[in-house]
Amino acid sequence: MAERIKMNVPLVEMDGDEMTRIIWKMIKDKLLEPYIELKTEYYDLGLEKRDETNDQITTDAALAVKKYGVGVKCATITPNADRVKEYNLKSMWKSPNGTIRAILDGTVFRAPIILDSIKPFVKNWTKPITVARHAYGDVYRDVEYRVEGPGKVELVFTAENGEVTKQTIHEFKGPGVVLGMHNLDKSIESFARSCFNYALDQKEDLWFASKDTISKTYDHRFKDIFQEIFDNEYKTKFEEAGITYLYTLIDDAVARVIRSEGGMIWACKNYDGDVMSDMVATAFGSLAMMTSVLVSPEGYYEYEAAHGTVQRHYYQHLEGKATSTNSMATLFAWTGALRKRGELDGIGALVDFSDKLEAASLRTIEEGVMTKDLAPLSEVSNKQIVNTEEFLNEVKKRLEEVL
Ligand code: NAP
Ligand code: MG
Repeated sequence: MAERIKMNVPLVEMDGDEMTRIIWKMIKDKLLEPYIELKTEYYDLGLEKRDETNDQITTDAALAVKKYGVGVKCATITPNADRVKEYNLKSMWKSPNGTIRAILDGTVFRAPIILDSIKPFVKNWTKPITVARHAYGDVYRDVEYRVEGPGKVELVFTAENGEVTKQTIHEFKGPGVVLGMHNLDKSIESFARSCFNYALDQKEDLWFASKDTISKTYDHRFKDIFQEIFDNEYKTKFEEAGITYLYTLIDDAVARVIRSEGGMIWACKNYDGDVMSDMVATAFGSLAMMTSVLVSPEGYYEYEAAHGTVQRHYYQHLEGKATSTNSMATLFAWTGALRKRGELDGIGALVDFSDKLEAASLRTIEEGVMTKDLAPLSEVSNKQIVNTEEFLNEVKKRLEEVL
């Protein structure tokens, strides 16, 4: 057998929970360790370990991504009341993804894995559409008020020096509702830089849209910040990479995206991103085929699957039943991270291996071998539905052929 590929800088490995934790180990054992001398710095973000360390392990993992630049993360349980009971937790720990995102100050990019045999609902989409969602503020951090009867609602700003600015929002003649929301230049700037960096990295056009014609101060600020940062820091780099930056109104962007062939990164304000990422993901077919990468404005990368820990399948697994859980998004999280490590460290063999492993997994599905979730979507005529482990074995067969 050929010599295993060596790595220089460790990849930050964040293990997780339930079915995805089982898949994680299978991927490493079958498809990675035999070919790569995996050099990882391992953090166990499984719920037991988070509880044992009072969630310090999550912070440590995020800091490690800052130190080394690239991480790969397994899906993890975000505890709720049921989980507190199930795992006898000391506390209802916060979402690990939220903690990591807060430390890296990043933006999440979600992109579908595309196959010839699985057609998106929008027939002209031949390339992936990546949605980047701003993850701070707007309606997600608003203050809302129910107006019960007649009265005046005002917007009051009190500066540090005591100076007061007042505007009337509305003089209510009867009951109604009102909300106040905010955003920060600093957060919008980070969002913009993450998007420009990612577009350069992927060599894909960047689109950004808001409703600045109506929201002449709030949304306009987003538009201006993107434009200023683009003009000052990215214009030349975009020209050199042969890609473009397009700003347009959100309604125009929606129409253009539907008519397009895909292949762009679509930066969205928080609410738009919430709605549009679900629309795009569904139109491409399956949550199990969505990848996700967190990119910080400094250029740190954290790769993961967009789906959760697939709890229902895990309970089947615990009963000793074989499951047919799709491992593609988790596998692509690994190949994405290894490819990035290879690019940063100048290890061509690692980049090449990642490409081949992805190709082998795509070929497996194109040849009709797939997990249960893909069967109703695939247009292949001779389908063979396999379980979680069999699928990875089939990928391994095809990987061996090209190595
Ligand atoms: P989920 O794990 O995404 O699964 C929801 C359903 O989607 C599954 O029951 C399954 O449908 C289908 N599905 C998702 N991924 C699949 C895959 N790889 N292969 C086949 N089918 C797949 O969401 P959830 O059950 O709502 O959440 C479970 C746990 O995950 C929760 O504790 C939540 O906190 C956590 N979560 C973590 C992340 C993350 O770490 N990034 C993200 C979301 C949720 P069928 O049952 O119909 O087969
Ligand atoms: Mg949503």
